[in-house]
Amino acid sequence: MKPTLAALGVAWGMASCLLAPAARAGEPGLPYTPGLDPAAMDRTVDPCVDFYRYACGGWQARNPIPPDQTSWSVFAKLAEDNLQVLRTILEEAAAAPTRDTVTRQIGDYYAACMDEAAIEARGAAPLAGDLAAIAALTSARSMGPLLARLQTATPSGSILFGAGSQQDPDDSSRQIAGFNQGGLGLPERDHYFRTDAKSVETRERYRQHVARLLLLLGESEADAANHAADVLRLETALARASLKRVELRDPYATKHKMSLKAFTAMAPGLDWRAYLATLKPPALHTVNVAQPAFFKALSNLLQSEPLAVWQSYLRAHLANQRAAALSASFVDENFSFYRQYLGGAKQMQPRWKRCVRDVDAQLGEALGQAFVQKVFKPETRAATLAMVQRIESVMARRIQQRDWMSPATKAAALDKLRAIRNKIGYPEHWRDYGSVVISRTDHAGNVQRAAAFESARDLHKIGQPVDRGEWGMTPPTVNAYFDPQMNDINFPAGVLQPPLYDPLMDDAPNYGNTGGTIAHELTHGFDDEGRQFDARGNLRDWWKKEDAARFTEKAKCISDQYSAYEVVDGLKINGALTLGEDVADLGGQVLAYQAWQEAVAGMTLPERDGLSPDQRFFVGFAQWACSNTRPEQERELLLSDPHSPDRFRINGVVVNMPEFARAFACKAGSPMTKPRERVCSIW
Ligand SMILES: [Zn+2]
Repeated sequence: MKPTLAALGVAWGMASCLLAPAARAGEPGLPYTPGLDPAAMDRTVDPCVDFYRYACGGWQARNPIPPDQTSWSVFAKLAEDNLQVLRTILEEAAAAPTRDTVTRQIGDYYAACMDEAAIEARGAAPLAGDLAAIAALTSARSMGPLLARLQTATPSGSILFGAGSQQDPDDSSRQIAGFNQGGLGLPERDHYFRTDAKSVETRERYRQHVARLLLLLGESEADAANHAADVLRLETALARASLKRVELRDPYATKHKMSLKAFTAMAPGLDWRAYLATLKPPALHTVNVAQPAFFKALSNLLQSEPLAVWQSYLRAHLANQRAAALSASFVDENFSFYRQYLGGAKQMQPRWKRCVRDVDAQLGEALGQAFVQKVFKPETRAATLAMVQRIESVMARRIQQRDWMSPATKAAALDKLRAIRNKIGYPEHWRDYGSVVISRTDHAGNVQRAAAFESARDLHKIGQPVDRGEWGMTPPTVNAYFDPQMNDINFPAGVLQPPLYDPLMDDAPNYGNTGGTIAHELTHGFDDEGRQFDARGNLRDWWKKEDAARFTEKAKCISDQYSAYEVVDGLKINGALTLGEDVADLGGQVLAYQAWQEAVAGMTLPERDGLSPDQRFFVGFAQWACSNTRPEQERELLLSDPHSPDRFRINGVVVNMPEFARAFACKAGSPMTKPRERVCSIW
């Protein structure tokens, strides 16, 4: 993935850019920002000293973080512009007198979500049935049916743990069942164990947050405080048995296929038969238990902890996960802990933004149809597909030219590259949400029913052939991804818009920016994680031993470089966590540069905005990443985000590209250069 999803907060930014004439009433359109914006630069900075600030300093100065955001960026601003388009679509859908099913569903969902008075009047009532079921539990072992109901009615799908379908790591054409660790209320496992003052404070603030949720459910102050301490203690035990983020990047660490019988025997603390009878998946033969140690620990805790502790835990997590669909006191409580305390946001997002995002999250391919119709032109699809194909042919040639790989490994790498599917804009077949009952007066019910639809859809893939046309992001999403098991790259319509891809701009910034993103995703197929999957998406070692060893040595050059970067409060990047993204960032830019050179070969390119064509390529590259991030959020992302912070995603790449030093005539020894023998290079 290119940017971090967590960093994609959205709000209306101060424009440092040219705006197109406002769209006519009722006709949503996006404000235009050019793909290379000279006003976003700070030319008082020497590009050879700090290239990121040279390319983005003007943007940073003119784009303070809006109060409802934890960070602000070119990507986030485009996502915000998309929200405005989506809002218009949804307001029209809600008001239209005669409507088809898709329009009615998204319109009524949005209308119910916006009906704050109705939501307020119901308070915590939407939780009443589940709270009664929690109170009626007679043993921890018997919570299976309730757990299954809570999981399927929750948009994240995970309460205590997650269950669903996944591609078989050994045979990507098969869908099997997968069980995954979960159950934590803090965003990252390490929060439970760090001993620095800030981490100790974070745990105390989390305990207070849980206590306030329990108070909102009607507990006394004293009970809520005691129960919150129980919840934190239980979560700490679950966290201890959970794999760390870095460990989760190793696909072999999460591959533990076994029979259902072996799984249930390994974790006898839960009545799995009763759990599955309510979850109702298709017949389960093979299951993948991603973290066996977690499920063993969970099973032990179910047997050792009193029922009352588990009841407190379920109450707290029910309220925490459903808070967004409840009355203001719940919404405010979640905002104040997660976005304000952990992320540094000053204000809550206005309701309409939260509602638009909910429709996108729950009925995304219904809303996406209207979005694509409004903003995505067939010419853009054709032009970006041509760019993808050019970059793929450059990558094929570069694989052949690598002097550190043997012919056999090269042949397998080329097979894999040729097998990658290119998915651009939107899915060929739209998901049909027709069976979801959407009420205009029951927001919490809509959230639960849409979550249950998604859960059933996901579970029913088990035993079915893999649908290679399925997308993991919705069309308006401003992001892109590579999926190693599908072996495909996916570019939603939302990310193929100015200023990221700008049809009005020359090739240099477009290749620097969108070309770099395309090549970044392709490179993920060959980063330290992606390279372990073959052309079919199977987890199979196709590398000759000595080639793999050379890859690992080259990757170490990159992780050492990034591990030395200090981000905030003396905290440094965890280069093992960000390695895959850092490899993709460097490979992506090297490939995009070569592809651009070939695209413009033989042409005489003019200087524009006082920048040579090569300089425009690099400034276009850097400007995808212009951003400001609150220190609270930087700290949080260092623990959980596999991407390096934006300034290092730019400066960390250009120091490894002699083409950059040439473009800006950087002297040897300047900060944006490296001695030749220390330059990192893989693809
Ligand atoms: Zn990525």
